[in-house]
Amino acid sequence: MPTIIGIDLGTTNSLVAMVERGVPIVLTDKETGDALLPSVVYFPEGRDAPEVGESAKVRLATEPERTIYSAKRLMGRGFSDVASESEILPYKLSPESAEVIRIELGNGRLVTPPEVAAFVLRTLKARAESHLGEVVEKAVITVPAYFNDAQRQATRDAGRIAGLDVVRIVNEPTAASLAYGLQNKQSATIAVYDLGGGTFDISLLRLEDGIFEVLATGGDSHLGGDDFDLTLADVLLEEIGIPEPDANLRASARVAAEAAKRRLSDHSAAVVTLTLPDGSEFIRTVTRDEFENLTASLVQRTLEPCRQALADAGLTTSDIDEVVMVGGSIRVPAVYAAVKTLFGRDPHTHLNPDEVVALGAAIQADILSGNRDDMLLLDVTPLSLGMETMGGAVERLIYRNSKIPSSARQEFTTSVDGQTKVLLHIVQGEREMAADNRSLARLELTGIPPMPAGLPKLEVTFLLDANGILQVSAKEVRSGVQSDVRIKPAYGLDENEVRRMVRESFTHAEDDFAARMLADIRNEADASLLSAPKLLINYGSELPPEERESIESGLAEFKQVREIATDHAILREAMDAFENIARPLAERAMSGIARHLVAGKSLTEASQYLEERLKENA
Ligand code: AMP
Repeated sequence: MPTIIGIDLGTTNSLVAMVERGVPIVLTDKETGDALLPSVVYFPEGRDAPEVGESAKVRLATEPERTIYSAKRLMGRGFSDVASESEILPYKLSPESAEVIRIELGNGRLVTPPEVAAFVLRTLKARAESHLGEVVEKAVITVPAYFNDAQRQATRDAGRIAGLDVVRIVNEPTAASLAYGLQNKQSATIAVYDLGGGTFDISLLRLEDGIFEVLATGGDSHLGGDDFDLTLADVLLEEIGIPEPDANLRASARVAAEAAKRRLSDHSAAVVTLTLPDGSEFIRTVTRDEFENLTASLVQRTLEPCRQALADAGLTTSDIDEVVMVGGSIRVPAVYAAVKTLFGRDPHTHLNPDEVVALGAAIQADILSGNRDDMLLLDVTPLSLGMETMGGAVERLIYRNSKIPSSARQEFTTSVDGQTKVLLHIVQGEREMAADNRSLARLELTGIPPMPAGLPKLEVTFLLDANGILQVSAKEVRSGVQSDVRIKPAYGLDENEVRRMVRESFTHAEDDFAARMLADIRNEADASLLSAPKLLINYGSELPPEERESIESGLAEFKQVREIATDHAILREAMDAFENIARPLAERAMSGIARHLVAGKSLTEASQYLEERLKENA
């Protein structure tokens, strides 16, 4: 069995790991001995090959517009999603492509975020190959739990571009839990606190019989160790007192501040030495107490999303059985202490916090290689998948938190006589109305033989693979006409939007319910309004004139209510009233044997039944 590698594709740094003789290990660069590969790619002018990692990182200062970092923030997103992001990035994003972000490298050269990520992946792949002495073709890659379909798809694309078959995309908090062996527990509720250099994520997971379910996610995409450095650097610069310090001095202050921060993680004081532009030296001792006072508000800022995630999941801190801490910044003692106090238990921290996610990815890879047949690990889908129905409501086929892989099938029919095509609108999200969810794709099923409305048997199948990637197929069963799409989502939903979508599904539940009820009843009303006139033409003459007239005026009234009613209860009442008046017509239409079959059925049901009969007899 060829080796499957595990990759943590990070915003700042990336790592590769694999399981060797049953033990997960992080692979280091043969020359430098480094495990962390900075997720930075430098594209030299001309035809030279891009540089990746440390050698690219040093170009950040001199050639910022050709040195791409933080590409993960752009993965699977559209231009408008990253407007706020692009303001702080020193490289240029092309405003021309709304769907997929393109980075302008100058001289008309453009790259997409998956391509940038692919250079990082390729470097890690090569590292694994040199370690193993064999070609590596398969990988497990981790992504944040809040990553939506487009972002996962983009990550998969990056793998493909790098020549890797991404056999599984795993949530980072799930990987961290695996690294700590939590999958061996029967069940547990787990909080994964991840504070890196530039991002903070909190994820709450539920583990049950080897299945990890994401209960809630939260965080701050612009909060991390860098902010600790900047806070201290600002204090240093203020004391140095040079008005408007230049970029060089600011950069040196940051570097010095970071070094002091690291030292303060296991010492009570650190000495900062800075050479000033006039050649003099600035020397200053920073104590841990002082550093903690300066950064206390940053630590507090990480706790708020934790409380919010708990509230979103309907949990309190006492429901949390395990706390896992990930990311380089958890080495700051005040961070550790705050998390321990919040959750009231000792967090897991004994593994290297930079390596935890990669180690977990390697364990998942090992499971997929079939080396641990005692373990079946599944993930769940973070958002529901469904179709827009007539009237704009959503018919959900796969629910949020369904185990993946998963599939679902739904039957439906046409609403207009002679309809030869249907347009299916696939959406993702928790809201009741399609417009409030994220549009994933539109699929057209054409070539349906013309039949009366309600007669075609349309079947749509959703297949969600183990990576959370959806494939949809639609078929007209009677004629066998078929159409498929592999959902290649229109990029453009940011992580906060996913979080918001899930949160909003709770807060808007009542409005949504009313909107959904209205859409449903409108559909029923339209079907009834469509069939009643047909039945009147065909069977009206068999009714006594006064009965027919009362049906006709009832129909006009019902039609009017349908036009103006925005309250589902009012429309429902009007429809019930009309169906009552029209019952003799429905019954008349069902002559002979049909009559007793449909006794007590609604006009719509009766007419549908009738049309099928008519068709069969035709
Ligand atoms: P990550 O993005 O997970 O690699 O985290 C990198 C962050 O961890 C950077 O902000 C580092 O400054 C920070 N970091 C690394 N080592 C330490 C340490 N010993 N004490 C405090 N922060 C650290």
